[in-house]
Amino acid sequence: MAFENLSDKLQNVFKNLRSKGRLTEADVKAALKEVKMALLEADVNFKVVKQFIKAVQERAIGQDVMNGLNPGQMVIKIVNEEMVALMGNETTEIALKPGNEITIIMMVGLQGAGKTTTTAKLAGLFKKKGRKPLLAACDIYRPAAIQQLHINGEKQGVEVFSMGDKNKPVDIAKAAVEHASKNGYNTLIIDTAGRLHVDESMMEELQELKKNIQIDQCILVVDAMTGQDAVNVSETFNEKIGIDGVILTKLDGDTRGGAALSIRSVTGRPILYVGMGEKLTDLEQFYPDRMASRILGMGDVLTLIDKVSAEVDEEKAKALEQKMKKAEFGFDDYLESMAQMKKMGGLSSILSMLPGVGSQMKQIEEAMDEKKMAQTEGIILSMTPKERSNPSILNPSRKRRIAQGAGVDISEVNRLVKQFEQMRKVMKSMPKNMGGFPGLGGSK
Ligand code: GDP
Repeated sequence: MAFENLSDKLQNVFKNLRSKGRLTEADVKAALKEVKMALLEADVNFKVVKQFIKAVQERAIGQDVMNGLNPGQMVIKIVNEEMVALMGNETTEIALKPGNEITIIMMVGLQGAGKTTTTAKLAGLFKKKGRKPLLAACDIYRPAAIQQLHINGEKQGVEVFSMGDKNKPVDIAKAAVEHASKNGYNTLIIDTAGRLHVDESMMEELQELKKNIQIDQCILVVDAMTGQDAVNVSETFNEKIGIDGVILTKLDGDTRGGAALSIRSVTGRPILYVGMGEKLTDLEQFYPDRMASRILGMGDVLTLIDKVSAEVDEEKAKALEQKMKKAEFGFDDYLESMAQMKKMGGLSSILSMLPGVGSQMKQIEEAMDEKKMAQTEGIILSMTPKERSNPSILNPSRKRRIAQGAGVDISEVNRLVKQFEQMRKVMKSMPKNMGGFPGLGGSK
């Protein structure tokens, strides 16, 4: 799997964050030191790492840990959000002109980055969208490139315009534009020549193309596996030619993720698509949020965090917590915390995927069991308000009456009361902000 090294390291960092309530400066700093190392090892640009760590630190220190999350998860939440921001927050679409007006896209990049393959992949994608793409073969230095484009174009069912290797790229491109407009193509993708390294003659040729052809989108193709080099190449192309976006290829083989995280921040240009394999269908739209969860390797944790953030009523949770601390927690509050728990319904499946939750799983499952919840609710609702707020008055005859009312055996009432007393005892001894869900027992 991609990014496994980075994910593993980050997961370890977050596991060690166990302080309570508020994220302390020492905790955050220690964790972020590790995050910094992990990112640098993943070949993320050092300037990007510095800014990133600063941004997370500023947000994290002193932050209240949300109810339902533990401190580690709270830091993950912030790191995740900052990572998404680093990659541009939103997905960027390649802007295409409507109708029959021709959109001209120029593909640039170093040799071997995957430019020719990606050009054909992109044509297939546009075709699916209902566009009429035409490919133009302007890589005249590598005769195999022209042939490769023809083969791939054919596979995609897309026409390829070529004039062999005797004409200047700019003349081929001009002829291609004419061919496109005469034949009703509305998307022209020009495949240009790359070199093994950035060199002057390549840049001049591309500048010449840009000067003479009305290029709407200049898209740079870079190889994710080259990490920092990919970032440097992007910066240079952007300075010399001006690019509108980047396609990051070979992400399927990238285990570090450095290029994905750095490119946007260094060049100010978005990653548009990612290449995920050699097949012509292996091109995916780039989603900063999905990429961040892949890099963090915590898709499941992030889903949980989102769910908790969206569902748990912060106000009510805070009020419950206050009561717990003062040991005023009664059966009504127990019902309330159960209702909060229910709102997060279906969580047990997500919880089971979380690292480190395994040992608590049984307890969680029991508490989440629908039938048990309904039974518990039935028992509590059979109590009088006085009994609910003051459970110590529950003598055997009261318990018998409650059992009858709820249609359960008295042993069930005894079990619930006992469980409740135990919970109250634990809560009293809890220092601060340890969550308020029966069965979950607060954060780890
Ligand atoms: P160009 O010189 O930039 O035109 O590069 P090519 O399109 O010829 O691609 C170079 C090599 O990279 C070929 O073997 C492609 O099959 C391979 N390639 C391109 N994109 C991807 C990708 O997303 N994943 C993988 N695994 N291989 C890719």
